This record gives sequence, C-alpha cells and structure tokens, in this order.
Amino acid sequence: MKIFKETLSLRWDPVAVRMMRPGEERPPQMIEPPVPLRHCQSIITARRGNCLYMPPRSHACPDGSGILGLVEMSAKLRSGDLYLLFKKMPNIETAQKMISSRSEFKSGSYEATLLAPLDKATFEPDVVVFTLWPEQAMWLCCAQTYHNGERQSFKTSGFNSTCADLIVQPMNTGEMNISFGCYGSRASSEIDDFELYLSVPTHLLEPIAQSLQKLSQKSIPEERKKIYLHPVMDKIGSRRPESKGDGAASVELFIDSDQCLGDGLCVDFCPTGVLEMVEKDGRKVAIAVHPEACSACYTCVGQCSEKAIQLSYL
Ligand code: SF4
Ligand code: SF4
Repeated sequence: MKIFKETLSLRWDPVAVRMMRPGEERPPQMIEPPVPLRHCQSIITARRGNCLYMPPRSHACPDGSGILGLVEMSAKLRSGDLYLLFKKMPNIETAQKMISSRSEFKSGSYEATLLAPLDKATFEPDVVVFTLWPEQAMWLCCAQTYHNGERQSFKTSGFNSTCADLIVQPMNTGEMNISFGCYGSRASSEIDDFELYLSVPTHLLEPIAQSLQKLSQKSIPEERKKIYLHPVMDKIGSRRPESKGDGAASVELFIDSDQCLGDGLCVDFCPTGVLEMVEKDGRKVAIAVHPEACSACYTCVGQCSEKAIQLSYL
C-alpha cells in the first residue's frame, strides 16, 4: 500500500473490494451505510476512508447490484428498454448486444460487497480499485509489463463501469481492467473529470508493487521531471529548421568539456552513435564524432547530470 501511495503519489486510497460469498461471516468493523448507495458511490465513500458492508438492501443501483450477482436483474433493465428511454442506445438490438457482451455474475452468487481502503481492509480483497489520473495509470500498466513483459488488454465501455468493468471483469479473467466511469457513476459520484479507475486482482498486487519500486528509482522521477522536454516547444512556428534531406535533424551539439564528468552516460544512451569518449587534458570527456547522425531526441541532454550538453538548431 505504502509503495503504491509513495511511488505514484496517489491522491486517493486504493479501495479493497471483496464479493462476500454465501455463508461467509461479516468481517468486524464494517459499517452498513445509513442510506442505500450505488456501487460507484460506495467506492468513492471507501476511498475517503470508510469500511463498508453492503448487502443488497444497501445497494441503490438495480443495474449494478444485478450485474454483481446480488439480486435478480429487473426485466426492464434486462430487456434494454430503459437504455432506450434514457436515450443512451439507438435501438433495442444494440442495447441487447451491449447487455449480452458485458461481464456479469449469476444472480445469487454473492451476499454483499465489502469495501475498505486497502490499508484498513480486514478481509481478503478480490480486487483493488485505484482512482488514478492517466499518468499514474500508465505507470501501473508499465509495472505489470515490467513484471511479465506482456501488454495489457482492457475490456470496457461507458456503460456499467464500476460494477462490470472494475469487479466482474477482473475477477473473471484474473487480469487488471480499466474503467473511465459511466453515465451513472459520473452523474452520481464525485469522480473528477480527469480521473479514471484501474482495478487490479489481488494476486497481481505484490509483483506490481515490486516493479513500481524498481521503476521509481529512475524512470518515474525522470518522466515527471520531463527531462527530454524540447526547448523549442514554446516557440514552434517562429523558425523552421531546414532538413538536410538525409532524415537527420539540423542541430548543433555543444558539449562543455569543463563540466563533463566523463561518466559516459550520454555515449551509452545515444541511440545513433553520435557521441564518443576521448582523452582531453588527461581526462575523459564526451565529444560529438558523428553530429550529422543526431536525431535531436534529447536523450543525452536529459541523462547528463551536469547539464553539459546543449542542442541548438542551425
Ligand atoms: S553525460 Fe554529461 S557528464 Fe557524462 S560524459 Fe556525457 S557530457 Fe559528460
Ligand atoms: S540528441 Fe539523441 S541522437 Fe543526438 S547526440 Fe543526443 S542522444 Fe544522440
């Protein structure tokens, strides 16, 4: 939990969610809310620090509680008629296709939802729901790929997001899943316009946390410092550099050998072999031996701890 909060600078606590199986005992210190909440509202309430026990009578959204297998879905929702009434679907065929393609639990599979901030959860979660901005979601995806080398595939839509996409889908597949929220969850909860959700099955938390710790040693802080930010960004259009016609950018490299430490990082990171280390006045310094091959990627500029390298357009 601490790793997630520290490496990603999370604004909100990740929310542990468990689908309570039939016959399971209600864990201690879980509060049944005084008024029914939608499932999306219960996630928001938990990310604010509350530990919730939510039996069917506490669920305000008949769609969500049907999808989560807590109750039988009402006929009007099951048929798709209500989606037409809300003007959220063009016709009944499309509505029914959307309904049949979403992930759902069978009615009666579960007795309640349990939600708590991850570090307060007294139960074993099925999934952990992160409220993120896109950059943080990128690092969680990156951490998963760092762990197993695989890209992620997400299944989502702007319908039934926090129930179908955040709970049922990752529990059924064992893979993380994304949700941008839906009509209901955005209209009835405080999720900000720039926030999204990522749900991670519990068995993936540990490897992802370990990967995040490794990524936080270099990649995350470098990205957040925008170390390759192009200095011409603010005045684009004021001057257009001529192409040399060979695919290379027309740039001049200046390396201040007085500042150069001689660690060779720029040489190691340059993808096109522009730079080399040479002896100068009894010490090693970087020089540009093939400046014509420079693509102006700014990697050497960003990696040089001494800010000894500058690029300028010819
Ligand atoms: S990264 Fe900077 S300090 Fe290191 S060799 Fe290159 S120019 Fe010198
Ligand atoms: S800007 Fe990129 S291509 Fe050019 S010297 Fe630096 S690392 Fe190499």
